Amino acid sequence: MSVPDWLSKGWNHIWLPYTQMQTAPMPLPVACTAGSRIILADGQELIDGVASWWTACHGYNHPHITAAVAAQLREMPHVMFGGLAHAPAYRLAARLANLTPEGLDRVFFTDSGSVAVEVAMKIAIQAWLNRGERRSKFMAFRDGYHGDTMATMAVCDPEEGMHALFSGVLMEHVIAPLPRNAETRSEFERLMDANASDLAGIIVEPLVQGAGGMVFHDPEVLRLLRSYADHYGLTLIFDEIFTGFGRTAAMFAHQLAGVRPDILTLSKALTGGTSPLAATIVSNEIFKLFLSEDSSKAFMHGPTFMANPLGCAAANASLDLFESEDRLGQANKIGAQMKSELGVCRKISDVVDVRVMGAIGVVQLKRIDDVGALQKEFIRRGVWVRPLRNVIYLTPALTIQSDELSELTHAIGDVLSGS
Ligand SMILES: *Cc1c(COP(=O)(O)O)cnc(C)c1O
Repeated sequence: MSVPDWLSKGWNHIWLPYTQMQTAPMPLPVACTAGSRIILADGQELIDGVASWWTACHGYNHPHITAAVAAQLREMPHVMFGGLAHAPAYRLAARLANLTPEGLDRVFFTDSGSVAVEVAMKIAIQAWLNRGERRSKFMAFRDGYHGDTMATMAVCDPEEGMHALFSGVLMEHVIAPLPRNAETRSEFERLMDANASDLAGIIVEPLVQGAGGMVFHDPEVLRLLRSYADHYGLTLIFDEIFTGFGRTAAMFAHQLAGVRPDILTLSKALTGGTSPLAATIVSNEIFKLFLSEDSSKAFMHGPTFMANPLGCAAANASLDLFESEDRLGQANKIGAQMKSELGVCRKISDVVDVRVMGAIGVVQLKRIDDVGALQKEFIRRGVWVRPLRNVIYLTPALTIQSDELSELTHAIGDVLSGS
């Protein structure tokens, strides 16, 4: 492929995500996107199996979203959120509060998932401070992933995660196994009982731990966490940055489990993959702890681009689409198709598990030695699939066509079986 001028000129100045820059090949230059397709500079089209890190739930360039953003852009791309109000943010806050469980009614906007989680942690800690108690620890879980900033790295899986190098540098929390069976449950209970008086809260990705390897767990796990949080008075944070907005075939994963968190974090698909925006949604009980005649009890946080109107317009348009089109039905259909088409991978020797939940399809291998080589094979077959740790997974746009999805599942089967 010929390398565009901007790529060769910028290559010595760019620093890429999660990349050893000394050995990294140049990334593929993209000209544009449409639906479930990424169109490269040389005209080659890739069917996207990842939806750009799980954001583009309606596919790329959905006309309803681009029209809403274009209209907002003409009116007002941005205005500061301190002391000034704008319709897109207030409408979105009311809609999100309406979609999430009864009693989860306060929305704090930020501009990335990691910051939404930091805000959730800071609120949980300050809620204790406002009650006169100093608590800074969280219980978090193995295989968990909550972001790349200093505070969120500390609640990721400390060993398997991407942040092992930083052990000893980060805040120390209590990292437990998720209580999915008798053995892990007793380990969890031991850690919980031993540390409860130091804990501010518990943080977990409900039903699916995403970046940690697309690991699923049963609703009972969340019910158990809820009961422990209630017993010890801890704040239960559900990080739905990955699972939110239909990925599990429910609007939010916690609805499938019937468990309400005290704080919920959302981002990724919030704007339908259009622009960065995140939300931390807080229970009325916790919000009340910040109300006081004493101004020092206020929550002192406010990102410059808080509640950016373009992002809020995109998110409102995305919610319109969830109302007017059957995204959850589409997620279920995608799941059924992946179940039937990925099943053949079970026969391949290095495959240890094939699992599907909602519009998440996972083929787990013993291990993946050469991710780069695998990815090249996928690109050669015209699909964009990015293996993660020891899994090859599909999290396509919920609007993907069934023949496009078949190309993705067949590419995985072909690449793994070497045909
Ligand atoms: C991606 C992700 C984050 C971090 O979001 P960023 O926008 O990348 O900072 C946090 N939690 C979960 C569950 C995620 O999937």
